[in-house]
Amino acid sequence: MDVSTIIAPLNDAQRLAVSAPNQAMLVLAGAGSGKTRVLVHRIAWHIKINQISPFHILAVTFTNKAANEMRERIENMLEISARAMWIGTFHGLAHRLLRQHVEQAKLPANFQVMDSDDQLRLIKRLLKNLNIDETKWPPKQVQWFINAQKEEGIRARHMHESGDFYQRQMLTVYKAYEDLCDRSGLVDFAELLLRAHELLRDNEDLLHFYRQRFQQVHVDEFQDTNTIQYAWLRLLTEGNDNLFVVGDDDQSIYGWRGAKIENIFNFQKHYPNHQVVRLEQNYRSTGHILKAANTLIANNEARMGKELWTDAGEGLPISLYSAFNEQDEAYFVVEKIKQWVNDGGLRRDVAILYRSNAQSRQFEERLMTTGTPYRVYGGLRFFERMEIKNALAYLRLANHHDDDASFERIVNTPTRGIGAKTLDDMRILAREQNLSLWQASVRMLDENRLPPRAGNALKGFLNLILQLGGETLELPLHETVKLVVEKSGLIELYKKEKQDKGEARVENLEELVNAARLFDADSLNEENLSEVDLFLTHAALEAGEMQGEVDEDCVQLMTLHSAKGLEFKLVFMVGMEEGLFPSQQATDDPGRLQEERRLCYVGITRAMEQLYLTHAESRRLYGKDNYPRPSRFLREIPPESIQEIRLRAQVTRPAATFNSTLGNSTQTAGRYRMGQSVRHEKFGEGVVLQTEGEGDQKKVQINFRNAGIKWLMLAYAKLETL
Ligand code: ATP
Ligand code: MG
Repeated sequence: MDVSTIIAPLNDAQRLAVSAPNQAMLVLAGAGSGKTRVLVHRIAWHIKINQISPFHILAVTFTNKAANEMRERIENMLEISARAMWIGTFHGLAHRLLRQHVEQAKLPANFQVMDSDDQLRLIKRLLKNLNIDETKWPPKQVQWFINAQKEEGIRARHMHESGDFYQRQMLTVYKAYEDLCDRSGLVDFAELLLRAHELLRDNEDLLHFYRQRFQQVHVDEFQDTNTIQYAWLRLLTEGNDNLFVVGDDDQSIYGWRGAKIENIFNFQKHYPNHQVVRLEQNYRSTGHILKAANTLIANNEARMGKELWTDAGEGLPISLYSAFNEQDEAYFVVEKIKQWVNDGGLRRDVAILYRSNAQSRQFEERLMTTGTPYRVYGGLRFFERMEIKNALAYLRLANHHDDDASFERIVNTPTRGIGAKTLDDMRILAREQNLSLWQASVRMLDENRLPPRAGNALKGFLNLILQLGGETLELPLHETVKLVVEKSGLIELYKKEKQDKGEARVENLEELVNAARLFDADSLNEENLSEVDLFLTHAALEAGEMQGEVDEDCVQLMTLHSAKGLEFKLVFMVGMEEGLFPSQQATDDPGRLQEERRLCYVGITRAMEQLYLTHAESRRLYGKDNYPRPSRFLREIPPESIQEIRLRAQVTRPAATFNSTLGNSTQTAGRYRMGQSVRHEKFGEGVVLQTEGEGDQKKVQINFRNAGIKWLMLAYAKLETL
């Protein structure tokens, strides 16, 4: 193996970055220009040319999947084992640090990681305990507040008591929340990062050790690091100039979660000897796709300014489809996928990208009906599904009796006659005596405080948990999980549920046993944790990414956010509608709107060969009918790069061809006076009651004979006058 294996597959600018002498480095470049490739080759360069052992290398990626791929690529390139290299997400790495230094991190040895759903439940319970009205202080808002403080490195004790009422109330909750977590050994995601930072900051020896250990530190997707993550990187590297980051300001899409684009400027300030390398050639996409992305993102202000070019040729124009409704949209997309597969394409090269998880269902149903294998990433991720969380709560409680969150979750799932009154009494006792719910129940039983029925029910529950804990002691992990799933009564519970849903839940529980079988505890390199605890932690941290590497050739479904860094030959960006993408909240906030536009840029640049954009003229979302306008982003793509697809020429449409839909609709409203009879394609015949609004925004209220009274957007309602 010689240098050329590392250097040959790179262009000049990439080579410059990969082979640079040891110094802080910022590779700032647009999508698909090979930043991640540079990062991988830089690590290989260090190992091979600078003779740095993988043991001395740290790399931070955006997902666990990316981490595994990176390790594999390095191992294949160099034909070595890179197991000793620390590579993972910020959260994964922070967790690892905390586990290895629990004492210095001031955590109990068996601390548990909560995902955001667990956190929300805990907050709800806390608000109840504090007698704070949930309707005035929505738990989600409290959660957001707490996480936002932590992301900035602010603990409750750092905050002033003197703020306004809102601040003071939030501070009270934050304090109580910190206490509760400390007492129960619970750690939320933001806490992982904050504590890992404090761990190094406050323990000089440890910091010294890790500064020596990590001789080279690499970060992918640097634009999406938050304050505390960046502070952690700085602790490890400042003064050594050994931080190598790659990023793209145009792909910063986690501002809403505390990511700071400013970190790119901070980096330049804090590492004065740094070098900047810019990459301009895009290797991923064909001409039309790239042009669309470049033109769209030019609408944002305050960019660091980058242009991308490709020598891949123009390629196919971008296709635009205006669907009648969301079902039609799904139908269309799946038809196109069928064609792709018929023409010899692979399903795994196809991605359906959407703004919000709620959109996936339509596509899933259509894919299922047509028997097309697919896989949903993120969103309702495997380990986040209700039935899985319930089963894991049994597993947790069997191993950690004092885990109140799990106790609450399953004490009455399946129902076993432990009433609300009993639970309330238990909570009060726990609060007053500073006991866990488990301890409180034991005491209530010991002291005979319960009426016989409730007492027996509770006793039954505690015995079940004790039994699960005892019986599973000697079993291999998957047998343990199997036993828990069976004895918990969850299977019977879901078998009784309405057909499809219940069936799917039972299947998921079986899949959980399978996941446990495939789980490789050794790969985590943790000595001081039981296999069950490793599995539970894994479930909290890795949520969806671990449905096993499915070999089957599947269509990929995911949100635009989780598509970051990935690439697919054929991409569908669906639901390109105002109010959905850009999201409703973004439409009147210029900062958020720009973030949405960056998200759109991320979406477009995932496509290598072919990109479809679709929007629906009517959409049922969250139980409501909407008649959204096409997304403004469609207008920001050069029309010469777009080809409109029309399948339904026979459908009566208002003057709403692509251009007039996007521009100002000139639909005359005069015809729709009160009393006018009309016909709607779906709702049938009705009578106009009133109209409201102007131009594009004009709405009509119609009393349909069979469908009742509805408001419709005139421009999209496709009404026929009678
Ligand atoms: P993103 O911003 O989306 O994360 P990126 O800048 O990280 O993109 P990569 O994923 O590293 O880009 O590369 C994009 C594609 O281009 C990959 O398929 C990669 O293998 C290919 N590529 C990168 N550099 C070269 C090169 N010099 N020659 C050929 N192909 C390249
Ligand atoms: Mg990348």
